[in-house]
Amino acid sequence: MTRPVALKTARDLAAAGLVDHAQIEPIEEVSKRYALAITPEMANLINPADPDDPIARQFIPSAGELETTPEERADPIGDHAHTPVKGVVHRYPDRVLLKAVHVCPVYCRFCFRREMVGPQGDGMMTAEELEAALDYIRSREEIWEVILTGGDPLVLSPRRLGEIMQGLSAIGHVKIVRFHTRVPVVDPGSIIADLITALKSSGKTTYVALHANHPSEMTEAARAACARLVDAGIAMVSQTVLLKGVNDDPAVLADLMRAFVETRVKPYYLHHPDLAPGTSHFRLDIAEGQRIVAALRGRISGLCQPTYVLDIPGGHGKAPIGDCAVRTDDCHSLVRDFSGTEHRYPPEA
Ligand code: SF4
Repeated sequence: MTRPVALKTARDLAAAGLVDHAQIEPIEEVSKRYALAITPEMANLINPADPDDPIARQFIPSAGELETTPEERADPIGDHAHTPVKGVVHRYPDRVLLKAVHVCPVYCRFCFRREMVGPQGDGMMTAEELEAALDYIRSREEIWEVILTGGDPLVLSPRRLGEIMQGLSAIGHVKIVRFHTRVPVVDPGSIIADLITALKSSGKTTYVALHANHPSEMTEAARAACARLVDAGIAMVSQTVLLKGVNDDPAVLADLMRAFVETRVKPYYLHHPDLAPGTSHFRLDIAEGQRIVAALRGRISGLCQPTYVLDIPGGHGKAPIGDCAVRTDDCHSLVRDFSGTEHRYPPEA
């Protein structure tokens, strides 16, 4: 059976009824600069009659993307400053990113690596580049974890992934291999046995970090794809970007975090949006993010709580930025409960 193909041009979007003809030209302008792709699974979730559809907002280009604000930058989290060899980002002592491919099954309009991904992007690592990256990892005994990201590493064929895993399997100090991906949600049918075997073939403890931003993305097919991974012994965590007009609402985030936990995906990071070019329409300020995250406390189980983080621009790494529930008053600590009431600690005798 032939699988339905992704929508990759403004005309594809119009033919699918997702945009009207007047939008073709502006979308073509944006897609000359930033890649465009929407999988059939994501296209099917879009309600074209809803101007605020949260899935459309994530994947359908808008004219606002051509407006870059002064604080935005091509490399918002400073990958280049920490790249010792092509495809490796070594920002923290015990782990590296391995960017084996710069292609994705969908192109998110808020992507923090939007200047690097896509058909015109940095492509796939050559065999020589991969060997140089593996040499680097081999030579640094402090590297405990290798995180495959990109791009989306799960677009690689099982054979290619298997080759990369083969290289990592022989490196004794690497204990953890983690994959950052959107595939189980945006293309769940591609989570097949051969791919799962390849993901695990390093013999290391394997994690998959799933990127999803709205509860409607967690379809039955997506949940089943995650179940295949978890049942195979792969641990899963989540990543979500806090996005204006998509999920900047405690009720929406609560539904998403619960959907993750129901699917055996442990909520991990809630990212403050990065300063990627042309993405200001997605950004809210940190104080607003803190209010939303504080509203999740008490509303949902501790299992469902993600850590709200900011990647400090310039490559300085992640910092937790959720509001703090404790403050010090003279010699006492005052701890705020989920309803906003403060309690002295230790309590008065
Ligand atoms: S899947 Fe990840 S790397 Fe690819 S476009 Fe979306 S945010 Fe960027």
